[in-house]
Amino acid sequence: MGNAFYSVLRNGEEIEAGYGVQAVCEEPGCTEVIDRGLAYLCGQTPGGDEYGCGGYFCPQHLHIPRSVVIGDLCARCLATN
Ligand SMILES: [Zn+2]
Ligand SMILES: [Zn+2]
Repeated sequence: MGNAFYSVLRNGEEIEAGYGVQAVCEEPGCTEVIDRGLAYLCGQTPGGDEYGCGGYFCPQHLHIPRSVVIGDLCARCLATN
């Protein structure tokens, strides 16, 4: 999954993902421009996994969880893991 562009299912909806896709941080109220690469992903799997929601967040809104195998998480997922 090192592609610049691909599509992925998230909550039953197909979204464009990849580091070539420009996006805005999904934290409500945040306008930071990011991309949909793995560096900005909540969790480790595009589309979401058991720890992450599959959202994309700027570095300010991604947090390092207790275990690195989980991947960086947004505030909501951090609270439940
Ligand atoms: Zn999340
Ligand atoms: Zn943000």
